[in-house]
Amino acid sequence: MTNEQIWQAVLGELEIGISRVNFITWFKNTFIYSIENNKVIVSVPNDFTKRWLEQKYYKAIKCSIEKITNNKVAEVEYQINLKKESNEKESEDKKSCKTETAKTPVTPEIKTNVSRFGLNAKYSFSNFIVGKATELAYAACQAIVNNPGKAYNPLFIYGGVGLGKTHLLQAIGNELIKNNKKVLYTTSEQFTNNYIDSIRGGKAKEFKNLYRNVDLLLVDDVQFMGGKDGTQEEFFHTFNELQQGDKQIVLSSDRPPKAIPAIEKRLISRFESGMVADVGRPDIETKMAILAKKAKEKNYIIEEEILNYIANSIQNNIRELEGALNKIVAYHEFHNLRPTLKIVKNILNDLTNNNQIKPISPKDVLENVSQFYNINPKELIGGKRKKELVVPRQIAIYIMREELKTSYPSIGEELGGRDHTTAMHSYNKIKNEKEKNEKINQDIESIKQLLYGSF
Ligand code: ADP
Ligand code: MG
Repeated sequence: MTNEQIWQAVLGELEIGISRVNFITWFKNTFIYSIENNKVIVSVPNDFTKRWLEQKYYKAIKCSIEKITNNKVAEVEYQINLKKESNEKESEDKKSCKTETAKTPVTPEIKTNVSRFGLNAKYSFSNFIVGKATELAYAACQAIVNNPGKAYNPLFIYGGVGLGKTHLLQAIGNELIKNNKKVLYTTSEQFTNNYIDSIRGGKAKEFKNLYRNVDLLLVDDVQFMGGKDGTQEEFFHTFNELQQGDKQIVLSSDRPPKAIPAIEKRLISRFESGMVADVGRPDIETKMAILAKKAKEKNYIIEEEILNYIANSIQNNIRELEGALNKIVAYHEFHNLRPTLKIVKNILNDLTNNNQIKPISPKDVLENVSQFYNINPKELIGGKRKKELVVPRQIAIYIMREELKTSYPSIGEELGGRDHTTAMHSYNKIKNEKEKNEKINQDIESIKQLLYGSF
């Protein structure tokens, strides 16, 4: 197994438990530089990623490498911007690891083919398997491709994590660029960040040009606009201008428009003004069909019995379904052995026990903030007023309020029985500070990524 294959398998494992944004943020441009004497050196693009991986993913990465290589790892070291070696030695290994059926390695999904429109060519209609739960959304997407700006505008797709929303949005985009349409794919977080940057940099005009000068605007995960008033205002105008010009808008969210917390009424009514379609959990037949298709894409032959087992044990997330398959392929490649059902059960044990999505709680916020600043959670909620504690404390309060909409009295309680006015004051303080202080802004974004990535 080459270092690249090992890293791909590691990424395949890690990706399962992490949101896509997080995954791309932290693992883009990373690779295993060398493995020698049980020491693994991983190249990362910058110091921030280095620190992040060291702090947050050290154990997960180490264990995953150990599992995949079946060797103990003494240490994983992260170094910045190493040059990829020419892998002569590795091509030898490669030969010895080849198997009859598993010809292609497990592909990491973060490599290159992202075009300047924000599209990734791997998402198409032809590799989307339609089941009962996605029939309506799929048909609506097709209608848009055939009649952009006219069929349903906007199309609003909602549903749980890993059920194909991004895939569908991207598929529309990939289809319409073929017709020379100007397409822009963005997430609501990207939109927000661009908007803030444009205000700071006096670039409102460029911002408007970017978002309003398209034939198709795809905005993924609009639920994150909740509570962001400035962004909502700007998006409202962007939306109107596009809609009035018969330019197509497609939005996705993890919940229906009305259920998005802290979103303006006028936006809800805009979101609902075209077509709202949900994507639900796939039934067993659809899961089997998806697995069979993904296996085929990897040139991997998978027994009916194993297919059945995976489809039955993974309940509600297609990303996990893919993750399970990746693990099996990696196992086969590495051991040069087709896993039996018993082995598959073992390999997937942690996956199948762990597929419940739990909502984020104020405790999670405290935990992640402490982790991020490397401070003791008890101190975070304690009474000391050192600056190293006060700012993280205020940030925790800000995030609870902003992201979870926790009430001020409850926030006060979570923070060791503080008064609700303290919570309110801290929230306002950070809200103002965030506009002026780039570091605080960045910290908050990173903590949020950590938070959403961890559920
Ligand atoms: P969401 O945006 O809803 O969280 P994604 O669109 O990112 O989910 O889907 C997660 C993964 O599952 C992607 O790799 C996607 O290609 C795949 N996937 C989801 N639904 C289907 C489907 N019906 N057919 C084939 N692949 C799918
Ligand atoms: Mg998505």
